[in-house]
Amino acid sequence: MIIILLGPPGAGKGTQAVYIKNQFKIAHISTGDMLREAVKSKTELGLIVKDVMERGDLVSDDLLLKLIDERIKDDDCGNGFILDGYPRNQKQASSLDKILSQSNKNIDAIIQIDVDFSILEKRITGRADENKGEKRVDDNLEVLKNRLLEYVDQTEPLISYYSSHKNYIVINGMNDISKVSEDIKNNLNKLK
Ligand code: AMP
Repeated sequence: MIIILLGPPGAGKGTQAVYIKNQFKIAHISTGDMLREAVKSKTELGLIVKDVMERGDLVSDDLLLKLIDERIKDDDCGNGFILDGYPRNQKQASSLDKILSQSNKNIDAIIQIDVDFSILEKRITGRADENKGEKRVDDNLEVLKNRLLEYVDQTEPLISYYSSHKNYIVINGMNDISKVSEDIKNNLNKLK
């Protein structure tokens, strides 16, 4: 099963992706986590992307394509995977279509986690505070606002790109975390 999770920063994609990974025994691919790990370990990739991430801008499509193309070939992706944070714009969506079709794979479902922007800012400010101990490189209010703008500008148009997919699922992300994960699970179970 191959699933794409769509939604703005703070919608709860990471949390829900972990539930889906455990319930459906598929790999969780978070490009944000992979890039943060690269920055932390000061790899060549990490050194290239550090400044871009700190500003809350998007990393180049070519770097992301290489990262994803390699990652989905890993053994743990054999049963499928959930993409959390990729694709982030039209070009990445087209690249993904291409690499999947090269290996005769299809996207089984797209899950859009829908959250009002008014409550996102509250959530992400909370996250910036919570993480005071070990701060994410990109967690401060100004950067988070920039990430929301990037989302509206680059990623939100993917909603119309994918909405004609036969399994385009919209989930109300303003409910409790457990209700959101229950709704996702029920929808995915119908596909099996
Ligand atoms: P995330 O944890 O998914 O919100 O990602 C954190 C940061 O990593 C983003 O603000 C971007 O700088 C970078 N990033 C993650 N995924 C992508 C992507 N698909 N394309 C470009 N940049 C990305």
